[in-house]
Amino acid sequence: MSTSTNVVLVCDAKASLGEGPVWNEATNQLYWLDILGHRLHIHLPEQPQDDEMITIEPYISSLAPRQSGGIVLTLQDGFYSYNLVNKELTLLAEVEASLTDNRFNDGKCDPRGRYLAGSMSLSNQQAKGSLYSMNSAHHTETLLTDVSISNGLAWSAEGNTMYFIDTPTRKVVAFDYNLDTGHISSRRVVVEIGDQPGSPDGMTIDAEGMLWVAHWGGWCVTRWNPHNGQLLQSIAVPASQVTSCAFGGTELDTLYITTARVGLSEEELIKQPNAGGLFSIKLGIKGTPSSMFVG
Ligand code: CA
Repeated sequence: MSTSTNVVLVCDAKASLGEGPVWNEATNQLYWLDILGHRLHIHLPEQPQDDEMITIEPYISSLAPRQSGGIVLTLQDGFYSYNLVNKELTLLAEVEASLTDNRFNDGKCDPRGRYLAGSMSLSNQQAKGSLYSMNSAHHTETLLTDVSISNGLAWSAEGNTMYFIDTPTRKVVAFDYNLDTGHISSRRVVVEIGDQPGSPDGMTIDAEGMLWVAHWGGWCVTRWNPHNGQLLQSIAVPASQVTSCAFGGTELDTLYITTARVGLSEEELIKQPNAGGLFSIKLGIKGTPSSMFVG
């Protein structure tokens, strides 16, 4: 296992809860969010002077590019589409509107273009969240219940395995994923975080089928082999609350890493002044393209 410190600060946004990085191959832009700051960030690696920040509330928590244009995203109570030109927000599917103590959290599209996203309690109650799937017709289904903090999602290259993180379990689990129905089965544990620091948060998968996991409270991103549970690499990040990661760049060889400031004391923030920033590191490894929403 090697540790690297070649992480660079891309955007000193001081986000309260930076999250949800997604590379848009069509536009060469990196989208990311500040859930508690209710902001969408658009980063252009080639011309960072044109980076954008848009307020979208309440609790924008995940997003995906949409095949028909614009993006789809989750707010507190459901799935929405968002027109980046005229800034119009349109409800696609309401979910958990009656659960006012819940909000949506991490989400991502499957290889067929369904949008999966999970929820969590705003008051840290256990097992109050669920994992939902929205299809191209904007119908939603519940895939999992009794989730505490629904987080990292990733699919194998064939699309028939889905990886998932419920943060307090400190495990990555896998399911058989039926691409035709969008249903999951045969849950099994593939990674135990064990004595690695912090708790698993966001996740992505690389072109070699290995998982990259952000460590909330752990100052690092780690790479794991889901076929044998082995830890392969740990990348040090100069912020303790590491929330998520995604590959981007025109060659898909840059790992973008989001971080948070929420919950840190003034003393802690002095030691990690760039907490809440967007970081990146170039690796000799490529990611997999993000899937667009087809609806
Ligand atoms: Ca997260």
